[in-house]
Amino acid sequence: MDNFDYIILGAGSAGCVLANRLSENSSNKVLLLEAGGKDNYPWIHIPVGYFKTMHNPKTDWCYKTEPDESMNNISIRYPRGKTLGGSSSINGLLYIRGQHRDYDVWRQLGNTGWGWDDVLPYFIKAENQERGKSEFHGVDGPLSVSDQRIHLPLLDEFQNAAEEFGIPKTKDFNTGDNHGCGYFQVTEKDGFRCSTSVGYLNPVKK
Ligand SMILES: Cc1cc2nc3c(=O)[nH]c(=O)nc-3n(C[C@H](O)[C@H](O)[C@H](O)COP(=O)(O)OP(=O)(O)OC[C@H]3O[C@@H](n4cnc5c(N)ncnc54)[C@H](O)[C@@H]3O)c2cc1C
Repeated sequence: MDNFDYIILGAGSAGCVLANRLSENSSNKVLLLEAGGKDNYPWIHIPVGYFKTMHNPKTDWCYKTEPDESMNNISIRYPRGKTLGGSSSINGLLYIRGQHRDYDVWRQLGNTGWGWDDVLPYFIKAENQERGKSEFHGVDGPLSVSDQRIHLPLLDEFQNAAEEFGIPKTKDFNTGDNHGCGYFQVTEKDGFRCSTSVGYLNPVKK
């Protein structure tokens, strides 16, 4: 503790963001400790690579849940990232904020600062949105958000079918209203995964 002002345990989603923000003040000495390895396994960075990184002891803690009576006593695999970037290095890349009302209920329950209007500026601040700046999106943040590159005719038809059943098409699941059917956006830049290690840690490692 004589050498550091802050010690962060775990360089996952939260740890990398913390390390980035704390080190903005150059008088802070920050130590970030990660139990997993470096994120130099190539499949981490290729979006579909989660098929190679989940359940792989190189990048996943490979936890299993306790057998559950309500599930016929089976235990299920419960992946958690074990590398720089943590679970943001092995996750499904979906960029979907919560529902407006859920945040507001948190605030009503006494959590000052957690209502939708309170958190939205931070979502915007965090984001580098490929579609550009708007009421709900930012372009100056470290977390790159992009449209999916592949659209499949079957999925397009699924959306048409949903619309016939009264579920509207939507192009944006990040306005606080998640009702609708459409392609979600992903935390990617130029076709590569934007984990928090890539977005928040790499730029400040020096
Ligand atoms: C397979 C999978 C798919 C997901 N899909 C999505 C998705 O599509 N969209 C989405 O928004 N969210 C998704 N999530 C959830 C999201 O990725 C996590 O909620 C988020 O990354 C958790 O962040 P965290 O900082 O709490 O923990 P983590 O990111 O898991 O970080 C914890 C870090 O601590 C390290 N650590 C643990 N113990 C120690 C120790 N003793 N000493 C030092 N380091 C330690 C770990 O190795 C890890 O790097 C998914 C998660 C998983 C696992």
